[in-house]
Amino acid sequence: MHDRSTTRLDPRSPLVLDTGSLPRAPGSMRTVERVVAAPKDLGQGLIGVPEGAELGLDLRLESVSEGVLVTGSVTGTAEGECARCLRPISVELAVPLQELFAYPDSTTEATTEQDEVGRLRGDLIDLQPAVRDAVVLALPGSPLCRDDCPGLCPECGAHWDDLPADHRHTGPVDPRWAALEKLTTTEE
Ligand SMILES: [Zn+2]
Ligand SMILES: [Zn+2]
Repeated sequence: MHDRSTTRLDPRSPLVLDTGSLPRAPGSMRTVERVVAAPKDLGQGLIGVPEGAELGLDLRLESVSEGVLVTGSVTGTAEGECARCLRPISVELAVPLQELFAYPDSTTEATTEQDEVGRLRGDLIDLQPAVRDAVVLALPGSPLCRDDCPGLCPECGAHWDDLPADHRHTGPVDPRWAALEKLTTTEE
């Protein structure tokens, strides 16, 4: 059961669309093109679209018998860190979006859960969950600055790009550290 009173939408929210001007006859269409500020938490792990960054919406709203079908794309720039070398990276996103928003009291509303199929609240629809799902799915799980990023030397933390090809740490251990190590092992 869903308590609708707790899910009232704010029409001023950038990802809430008003479908009031869309005729309800199935097949009626309207396009929405706008640039909005990205909501917070639009990402995961090492990469995401920063809150307030520009998100482009290029959408088609279509009346269908059960509700309003939203189809189109979301564009934006995700910022993050390379998973191997931690250098800052940015990734251009162009993410397809398709989501049905069911009319109140439609069969679809009665037979689906709210997290499966969106709902119309009056004339308003909340695109935020659909946009978040689509963007997060499109983000690389392990973002790289370039496909062959060699990462960092595990010993000294320098980027392999900045190190000579024969860089290694196989020299003798500093005798002072070796003496300390001996001390700690005998104490145990
Ligand atoms: Zn890298
Ligand atoms: Zn090193």
